[in-house]
Amino acid sequence: MENRLKPMDAEQLREYGHKMVDFIADYYKTIENFPVLSQVEPGYLRNLLPDSAPNQPDSFQHVLDDIQAKILPGVTHWQSPNYFAYYPSNSSVAGFVGEMLSAGLNIVGFSWITSPAATELEMIVLDWLAKMLKLPEDFLSAGQGGGVIQGTASEAVLVVLLAARDKVLRRVGKDALEKLVVYASDQMHSSLQKACQIAGIHPENCRLLKATSSTNYALSPEFLSETISQDLTIGLIPFFLCATVGTTSSTAVDPLLSLGKIAKSNGMWFHVDAAYAGSACVCPEFRHYMDGVEEADSFNMNAHKWFLTNFDCSALWVKDRSALVQALSTNPEYLKNKASQANMVVDYKDWQVPLGRRFRSLKLWMVLRLYGLENLQCYIRNHIKLAKHFENLIAQDPRFEVVTPRIFSLVCFRLLPVRNDESHGNKLNHQLLDAVNSTGSAFISHTVLSGKYILRFAVGAPLTEEKHVNAAWKVLQDKATSLLAESL
Ligand code: PLP
Repeated sequence: MENRLKPMDAEQLREYGHKMVDFIADYYKTIENFPVLSQVEPGYLRNLLPDSAPNQPDSFQHVLDDIQAKILPGVTHWQSPNYFAYYPSNSSVAGFVGEMLSAGLNIVGFSWITSPAATELEMIVLDWLAKMLKLPEDFLSAGQGGGVIQGTASEAVLVVLLAARDKVLRRVGKDALEKLVVYASDQMHSSLQKACQIAGIHPENCRLLKATSSTNYALSPEFLSETISQDLTIGLIPFFLCATVGTTSSTAVDPLLSLGKIAKSNGMWFHVDAAYAGSACVCPEFRHYMDGVEEADSFNMNAHKWFLTNFDCSALWVKDRSALVQALSTNPEYLKNKASQANMVVDYKDWQVPLGRRFRSLKLWMVLRLYGLENLQCYIRNHIKLAKHFENLIAQDPRFEVVTPRIFSLVCFRLLPVRNDESHGNKLNHQLLDAVNSTGSAFISHTVLSGKYILRFAVGAPLTEEKHVNAAWKVLQDKATSLLAESL
């Protein structure tokens, strides 16, 4: 059969593109009509779609109709103003149009030569963001360091762990892999454990040190020092410390300065994960949570969480880019080119796991240019104000308690156990979570801290206003009233 396909016809792009933008704009206009947490059952889509792909083309309208009828019911609406689960994953008009341009150009920017603008814009935009965060100059691209956009914080911690591993192995010899030890608190995101698995760190040498309510779930420097000393006495090699600014469960902030000094005095790589809370640190009043970052070898924040940049965009900075390059570089014949061979350029393929990479800096650039620092600061402050408001609502209802001090825009709280029965309390809070989420009018998530089942209310969706927080609180109160009546 003759080829009739014109897959990149400019006029068709214009037509479908306009229709799709209209579809998405209408989605945002009506987003509150959907249950925020999808209420479908597992496997729901199999029954709605054919067993195999069509032989002949479908119409665009028909596909849009299917999206409306079959796909959207299975979507959990992360951009809904009633979304308070996990951490936010912001979209914005600026992020969206940046993403659109990236999809439109569809370059694969692994080496400078494959699209010089992609590499150079990424370096510039990450320097801008580093300055907004007041990162030490060593992290800027003018010196030995620099920033890179990874897909996720998980990839960020993996690549720096690999860099740190190879750096220490060059010093102590490859045979010492089994002796290498990694440290973090048990509140550290599970991505570190996954990175250790991939990096071949001995499973018993990933020390997740217990953090308790006595430090508000921050890692204790004394405990770290003791553990390192014990490991040194038995001939192990401490080489990597990971601290968090804003842990996933409860936004705990590890004391970077003292931890960093311990890492430095033991010749360890010090990584700081500020995936969520890093965004808040562009505000001068929250910047102190990053104090001590000058001791770090690498720092990471997810612009795709709370910084209006559509997923994915995880900003990673390192002080010594050569450590990354030494661990991750390959130089096959088919990629050789004059600029790379002459060491005149950054080739981001050597700072990450995959070869191919998208033009992600466009969307961050759009966000920074179209909004500006002051608006971004106000945006963050408003969410923190809403979280404080939610905290005040809880304080007025004696049936509930706030469990850990609120620092940023996450409130950790629970319904108090009846008659001090903790295990019944855990069950009750679990039931409350399910009851609220099954209404479809708000979506919250949970964690467990010191054996207590805790509800997490994370403010941070771009469309959330005070009325949404109030409505979610009303649902929580109503469901709590019913559950307490049932449990009498
Ligand atoms: N680190 C922290 C503190 C997080 O809260 C999260 C996710 O919520 C991650 C890392 C992992 O993020 P990613 O999905 O970008 O890998």
